[in-house]
Amino acid sequence: MEPSDDSGLNAKLDAIIASINTLRLEQAQLASVVDATNGRVNALQGVQQAQNGITQDVSQPGWRNAPQSPQLDPHGHPSRDNISSIDGYGRDTTLSNSPPPPRKGSTTTSKIILTSYPGQAGVDPLQMSWGESEPQKRGPVVASRNPSTIKRRNAIGAHGGSYSIYYALAVASHQLDTDHKPDFTNTEPAANIGPFKAWGDPKKIVAMDPYGHLAPWLFKDLITNEGVDIRPTIAITRAHMKIPELEESVRKGRLVPDGKICLNATGELNVTKFAVEPTWYLPGVAARFGISEGELRRSLFENTGGSYPELITRNDIKLFLPPIGGLTVYCFGDPAKMSDPNVKLALRVHDECNGSDVFGSDICTCRPYLIFGIEEAVKEAQQGGSGVVIYFRKEGRALGEVTKYLVYNARKRSSDKASEYFQRTENIAGVKDMRFQALMPDILHWLGIQKIDRMLSMSNMKHDAIVEQGIPIVERVPIPDEMIPEDSRVEIDAKIHAGYFTMGKTMTMEELGNVHGRAWDDVDH
Ligand SMILES: [Zn+2]
Repeated sequence: MEPSDDSGLNAKLDAIIASINTLRLEQAQLASVVDATNGRVNALQGVQQAQNGITQDVSQPGWRNAPQSPQLDPHGHPSRDNISSIDGYGRDTTLSNSPPPPRKGSTTTSKIILTSYPGQAGVDPLQMSWGESEPQKRGPVVASRNPSTIKRRNAIGAHGGSYSIYYALAVASHQLDTDHKPDFTNTEPAANIGPFKAWGDPKKIVAMDPYGHLAPWLFKDLITNEGVDIRPTIAITRAHMKIPELEESVRKGRLVPDGKICLNATGELNVTKFAVEPTWYLPGVAARFGISEGELRRSLFENTGGSYPELITRNDIKLFLPPIGGLTVYCFGDPAKMSDPNVKLALRVHDECNGSDVFGSDICTCRPYLIFGIEEAVKEAQQGGSGVVIYFRKEGRALGEVTKYLVYNARKRSSDKASEYFQRTENIAGVKDMRFQALMPDILHWLGIQKIDRMLSMSNMKHDAIVEQGIPIVERVPIPDEMIPEDSRVEIDAKIHAGYFTMGKTMTMEELGNVHGRAWDDVDH
């Protein structure tokens, strides 16, 4: 071949490669537009369904499953008809990549604005009828202290759970303007959920806002016309997750990749995730604990160093956004199946244990049980059912890591016996456990869960709380013995003795005295 032919061919190849690259780029761009549009369609559908009310029978299949794919125009682009998005200023930001609003000078005034008295001039909280099934009649949860919103607040506390303190720090250090309003473009839920009957029941959901995932879209008019700062307390996204143990599960044949839920031989999973920040309806929370609302308000006020005076002064405000951690739902398979009574549901409710869950400590069964829960949830979803893991931020039985480590020390510095396991915690914290599962079942009601076929937990407290809320549990599945680390026998045997579910033997106090953990010396070298 002549050199000139070669260069001609090369030029042609280059041109072909360039057009393939352009096509790839365009395809990626189109995919992201379709994805963004899907989000908006989800939000619109959610809003529509919420506004239609909770009149539909959830057992009728398909009513929540209107087509999700966006309408394409003749050019193959998603139609923009009826698909809109708003930012915190009420501006339409439909399919735009507009930059966030420019920073302005801090608007902190020299006066501290108190909203401590119901009759105070200008204080005019937005309507909040908790448990009302029509979202417009119920009203949005409003907690922002934005200047345009402060007089309209109907919730005590602040958004972000425990992170609200970092918000305060960001403002104090002049890094965040208090008049910043969020731009919610493209943040719509990645999956649809509900509405379910429980969303309109003031007794069934008392610790989260059932409309929290749709707030900015449901109450768009209030944001646009009255400048009210309304924020979501729930966000729904989709992701892949990779856990080293699951690669082994595939290798050993316990988990079989299907390309949909378990994607490949590394055990990579497809998951829909729901993050929830707590929103407490104080009368409902008090009722769950069998105490008066006044007692609850007083304790919350006094035992947070008087941080929320409105708990005492504003009896007219019934909502409180507590400065505590929230929860995350990991749903495997089609989220619509969680509420389908005709398919099986496997569920693990897991309370955070950072040392084991993330860092692999072998003193407890937390990570092994979590992995077992995920594996079983995935299997259930692959068999046409639904698999769900709910992760609560309640570190160390909601006592925190400092208390937990103090307990570890006390255990390891004496004979670490299962018979003394709970007493050690009680000596230090005054209680065995502060997780109080009474509020936990709210998330199950919100997800539309009507029964649990396989409960991947041995906790009697979780079991009782769920059953008390009218959700039957068919089968309880303990952690397999071979997954229990040697040093964590102390924990698991003590828990079984205290009432945790087991299919094996419950030891006597005397036998528990013979279950020892590893002494500290073993750990030290
Ligand atoms: Zn643990």
